[in-house]
Amino acid sequence: MKAKERMAIPRQRPRELKPEERITNFKEVTFGFDEETAILEANRCLQCKKPTCIQGCPIRNDIPGFIALLREKKFEEAYWKVRETSTMPSVCSRVCPHEFQCEGSCVRGKKGDAVAIGMLERYLTDWMVANGRPMAVECALPRQEKVAIVGSGPAGMTVAYILAHEGYSCTIFESLPVFGGMLSVGIPHYRLPRDIIGAELHSLKSCGVDIRLGVTVGRDVTLAELREQGYASVFLGVGAHESRKLGIEGEEGTEGVLHGVDYLRRVLTGEEMNIGSKVVVVGGGNVAIDVARTALRTGSKDVFILYRRTKEEMPASRAEIHHLEEEGVRVEILAAPVRILSEKGRMTAVECIRMELGEPDESGRRRPVAREGSNFIIEADSIIPAISQRVDHTADQGVELQQTPWGTYQVDPETLQTSVDWLFAGGDNVLGPQTVAKAVYQGKVAAESMQRFMEGRDLRVDRKFTAHMEQ
Ligand code: FAD
Repeated sequence: MKAKERMAIPRQRPRELKPEERITNFKEVTFGFDEETAILEANRCLQCKKPTCIQGCPIRNDIPGFIALLREKKFEEAYWKVRETSTMPSVCSRVCPHEFQCEGSCVRGKKGDAVAIGMLERYLTDWMVANGRPMAVECALPRQEKVAIVGSGPAGMTVAYILAHEGYSCTIFESLPVFGGMLSVGIPHYRLPRDIIGAELHSLKSCGVDIRLGVTVGRDVTLAELREQGYASVFLGVGAHESRKLGIEGEEGTEGVLHGVDYLRRVLTGEEMNIGSKVVVVGGGNVAIDVARTALRTGSKDVFILYRRTKEEMPASRAEIHHLEEEGVRVEILAAPVRILSEKGRMTAVECIRMELGEPDESGRRRPVAREGSNFIIEADSIIPAISQRVDHTADQGVELQQTPWGTYQVDPETLQTSVDWLFAGGDNVLGPQTVAKAVYQGKVAAESMQRFMEGRDLRVDRKFTAHMEQ
């Protein structure tokens, strides 16, 4: 096919559940491509000599490589091409913010629509499942050393996966009763169905990883005790699960005030929640959007988002914002809450203030400034601030670990070694709330470092992976 013909093919769009149907349940909203559509979309790829899409991918997947195989209908080979670099393509293909990563760097996006790289990757993982192909890799012969991994999110899973394949005996300690970190208790099922995480769990178990749920490191067992029990190296992948507070009057102790990740965790672990009909969600990122869409699915009728900048500055992906609005959530921009009003301890309304955008701040975005005297009231049954999360430090009780001013673990930027030589850390507890792909990449860096540490090798010379990446 000539380049001109490729250029003439429009970006293929996946089918989606209708908004009125999807808000009644947690079924996956976006359908995968069928074979014909996947090949048509793959034919849009120009197979650039210097593929910028690879640079845009935090894991550096060989995107043109797998697309070339896909369009030759070599689906299984194409899947394994992705697996050369990615430990969990079925997850990443669904939840990565592709528009800011690989697709955001695709040359076709400069003058039109980027290639739908995420959907093509998803086609391969769905094809493997539909065709009953094994997706786990055989493990190496067992070695003597034991490795402990604290946290079962994508960073911890990646470390376990890589080191188990190197033959180490790996144990994951997870404080929650469910496996998967934010993949299970943050990202709702309508974006990431449960069976996908089940498949990851199965892969890890099939190579002998011991998974201990309901064990909180720092409380049930300390890091020092793990070391005494003979774990040669320990990985800290505890994520960032402590909700940041708004810091406004009425936030503490008022019924009807919940915080984003706490609310999602409760819903996703099966708790029946009644948060009322009218719900205000505060924030503009993925978490805020997931909270709002989840509230609709659990029966709230009038849900809206309060965001202090404009829609253009919302960090959430465009597709998510589009889905949110299709489902009937209103986005109130340039507004921020200042006080939560209550009667007899139960919230009744939130007092807000209008904002305007001033000079750019350190993030490069224009700083929101309150417009004096522009206060207004929104009556509501619940308010759910979802403005960010920080690291909960239960795990490092009793160990002197250096931290950054943001409360994340201070690590060597190349090797992810902490200030204690046998302890390594990666994912959200190093980067702050970020993305699955970045957590996976850091898991790869940490696994390499831990192996070198246990083999008594230099941690720096001739590394395959380093943590130097755009953050
Ligand atoms: P986590 O996934 O947070 O896992 C850490 C695990 O450690 C948890 O299971 C926790 O219970 C456990 N733990 C904590 N303390 C202890 C302890 N003391 N002992 C034992 N276990 C402990 N990213 C994307 O790329 N795309 C998205 O669309 C997206 N959407 C998101 C939506 C929501 C609502 C949230 C909250 C996050 C979203 N993210 C998204 C971000 C992504 O989920 C995280 O960046 C990623 O999961 C971080 O991986 P991690 O392994 O570092 O930590």
